[in-house]
Amino acid sequence: MRDYSDVPSLAEELIAAPSVTPATGLVFDVLEAMLEPLGFAVHRFSRGDGPAGSDEAPVENLFAIRRGPGGSRHFAFAGHLDVVPPGDGWASAPFAPERRGELLYGRGAVDMKGSIASMVSAVATVPVEAGTVSFIITGDEEGPALHGTRALIDHMRATGDVPDLCLVGEPTSVNRLGDMMKIGRRGSVNIWLEVEGVQGHVAYPHLADNPVPKLVAMLAEIDALVLDKGTDWFQPSNIEITELEVGNAAHNVIPAKAKARISIRFNDQHSGASLAELIGSIAEKHGGRALPIISGEPFLTPPGEFSDIIARAIEAESGIDPERSTSGGTSDARFLKDLCPVIEFGLCNATMHKRDEAVALADLEALSHIYARIVQDALAG
Ligand SMILES: [Zn+2]
Repeated sequence: MRDYSDVPSLAEELIAAPSVTPATGLVFDVLEAMLEPLGFAVHRFSRGDGPAGSDEAPVENLFAIRRGPGGSRHFAFAGHLDVVPPGDGWASAPFAPERRGELLYGRGAVDMKGSIASMVSAVATVPVEAGTVSFIITGDEEGPALHGTRALIDHMRATGDVPDLCLVGEPTSVNRLGDMMKIGRRGSVNIWLEVEGVQGHVAYPHLADNPVPKLVAMLAEIDALVLDKGTDWFQPSNIEITELEVGNAAHNVIPAKAKARISIRFNDQHSGASLAELIGSIAEKHGGRALPIISGEPFLTPPGEFSDIIARAIEAESGIDPERSTSGGTSDARFLKDLCPVIEFGLCNATMHKRDEAVALADLEALSHIYARIVQDALAG
């Protein structure tokens, strides 16, 4: 029987199974072998079947559940087993975990195989009678996220296993384990703007229709928009012009088409659809059109019962009162928010996605203790 209190060894087992996004196979075998002896029913399934490397590549997912007594509360851990490509220049092989000094090195050490190891170690200390515990684990968080957590949510809805609270183990700590949790994240939408004109000779403008001035006027109006002033929990939404494309190599030609792209990070005063409509109407006014790609809606779990449970656990183990933040990019919490209140809390993020990704051995142990307190408290509530 595995020693579930040895969190670094659990993390090493997961890191040693290479799983550049989208993850399949071995790394899921490893997690399944950890969870089954703890009484979890493990369900694995793939979704998506397009050509490898495309947005439609098949994705493996794992849902594991250990049911408590009838009527008990249900607490879920969520996370991902896929990792970003390691890149070059590592001091040790990225998928051969190595302890040097107080640190454990390897791709996924903090984002987020280390967190998953801490979750497994935590639930090993929680008695079955305490309540229902589940793991919502995808192999497609770092990639397009088309067939990952959304597929898991469909599965949970179909089986009726909808949790009361969900904690995502993304690396949210900044300088010290426990200094920050994420109670929300802003949403993200990218919008292509296009204006069609009529190509012609620069010397004969009456025979052409130049799309560039129309695009410039459109962008000026969009750039001047103030979407909101921020909220108690969110910074103001912002619009950035991220690309301009005319591609006109000739100095004497009025181009036929001009394009630009904008990117909007938005708080819960907006939705992807409301922003697409707003920008679309401005584009139309200037004779163009807008093509939105909504990458994620915002989520917010306002400070209250769940954030207090997490803060109490952190305080008990490390003496810190964590900041309740909504900063940073999107995560799978954008989907999980449709199931139940969701908050993110995990390891220090300084080395995530970088070469020589590393986690402090002491943090792995401390995080498993914090997670164990959170589960017990959440199930007791
Ligand atoms: Zn992550």
